Amino acid sequence: MNLMNAAVRDNFIRSQLQERQRSLSAAIGQYGQTESLVRLLQQVDAALERMNAGRYGLCEVCHDGIESDRLLADPLITLCLDHLTPQQQRSLEEDIELAAKIQRKLLPPHRFSAAGWEIFYHYEPAGSVSGDYCDFISSESGDRNLYILLGDVSGKGIAASMLMAHLHALFRGLISAGTTLENLAQRANRIFCESTISTHYATLVLARADEDGSVIICNSGHPAPLLIHASGLHALDATGLPIGMFCELEYATQKIHLQLGDALLLYTDGLTEARDSSGNEYGEDRLKQLASRVRNLPPQDLVTVCIEDLRSFRGSALVLDDLTVMGVRRSH
Ligand SMILES: [Zn+2]
Repeated sequence: MNLMNAAVRDNFIRSQLQERQRSLSAAIGQYGQTESLVRLLQQVDAALERMNAGRYGLCEVCHDGIESDRLLADPLITLCLDHLTPQQQRSLEEDIELAAKIQRKLLPPHRFSAAGWEIFYHYEPAGSVSGDYCDFISSESGDRNLYILLGDVSGKGIAASMLMAHLHALFRGLISAGTTLENLAQRANRIFCESTISTHYATLVLARADEDGSVIICNSGHPAPLLIHASGLHALDATGLPIGMFCELEYATQKIHLQLGDALLLYTDGLTEARDSSGNEYGEDRLKQLASRVRNLPPQDLVTVCIEDLRSFRGSALVLDDLTVMGVRRSH
């Protein structure tokens, strides 16, 4: 998912830089003019000067725009990814490798079953790390049920992967505390809002599947999951805004019921917004047509059919966005 425009970004960064200018001056007043403090203050001053001159965020070498998520993480950088020094390039590669390793460990098993439900998912980052979030949490004690979570964090790369990790920890904690789905979404939204910068948010499907075939679902701004059942197809449209956008939001849920063999197909916009080499979008209609022909497939086959159809549609076009596709079926 892509981030905000440059003007909003620069206003935000300007206030960050001014804040740093103040704390550095205060530190110099307190500890004296150490070389490193003075150098940092010069860099902050120079960044603010570039901003006033309208040159902020442009690479010193090629004069193209520097990647927004990198500027938000470090407002002092002056080189785009293509023009880092060999030393900077090496540290960045090490960071990405570590982030990818952390991310792989946070993913649930690709095939999973609990409380009469079967799940299979396909997770494919566009680069080394993904901003897609996917998890399931089952409770086998007392009421047997299964929480299913699928989301997409704004931005790309390391910053997005760290937000994905944040969501992972947040929901693991909140779900273990036990509450209604509405309340869960509201609290997650508030905490995510308060702990990330305002330009970061996430679309999310949060569902609880019970043993009797009922599913309560909260869709906060995410592409509509498809309910594939005997009498046809039903899209489960969003019932609220993405989480992390506004701190005080209420979330609604909807309740559906699945018969044996019925399935849910969940995905991120890396599927429906994928483009072929002529720029045509894959689109929700094509996905619906495909899904309406495949009722009663086990989740793995359902997901595989979607991925194969996407690949044949996309041909040799570049993959631009992270992709997750998940099939959930009521199996007994
Ligand atoms: Zn450059």
